[in-house]
Amino acid sequence: MSQASNWHEAYIGLGSNLDAPLQQVRTAAREISALPGIREPRLSPLYSSFPVGPQDQPDYINAVMQIRTDRSPLELLRQLQAIENQHGRLRSTRWGARTLDLDLLLYDDLILNEPDLIVPHPELANRSFVLYPLADIAPADLRIAGKGSLTNLLANCAANGIHRIE
Ligand code: ATP
Ligand code: CA
Ligand code: CA
Repeated sequence: MSQASNWHEAYIGLGSNLDAPLQQVRTAAREISALPGIREPRLSPLYSSFPVGPQDQPDYINAVMQIRTDRSPLELLRQLQAIENQHGRLRSTRWGARTLDLDLLLYDDLILNEPDLIVPHPELANRSFVLYPLADIAPADLRIAGKGSLTNLLANCAANGIHRIE
């Protein structure tokens, strides 16, 4: 097997709505770029979105990163969770406010259903704050394993008041 085939394309969803969310997301993007086994990181424009779940929390800042990685999906998830923890992420209310949320959205065209890791991310198709920034940086003809084309997902997803902030 050639060396090149060890590099996988992955997309990561970034979100924050606590403790200077813009800075949380920008810092996290730099930290992801500096992880071992990561190449060619690209950050999407940043968006502002309304919260999912409990509504009594601040709006979110969201973005998506495209990376190449030589790590397995589970290794990458562990790397991302370590960054969440560095940002003081506490796990309390489901979908409650958080300093940093890093979700693994896609890993090549892999479909994975492990107890700790579902890929593609199960809510990706329903979330404008994922699909819009993803479309900003992904190839126009991107297909989401098991869910069809990104173009089609976008056409079927309400914008829900998200807007680009830069
Ligand atoms: P949602 O998954 O709806 O976006 P959330 O991001 O708030 O909700 P968390 O509390 O951050 O959920 O994560 C709960 C668990 O989800 C994690 O412990 C992780 O093991 C699991 N998980 C499953 N699939 C993924 C994925 N693709 N990316 C990140 N975590 C995942
Ligand atoms: Ca999430
Ligand atoms: Ca998460």
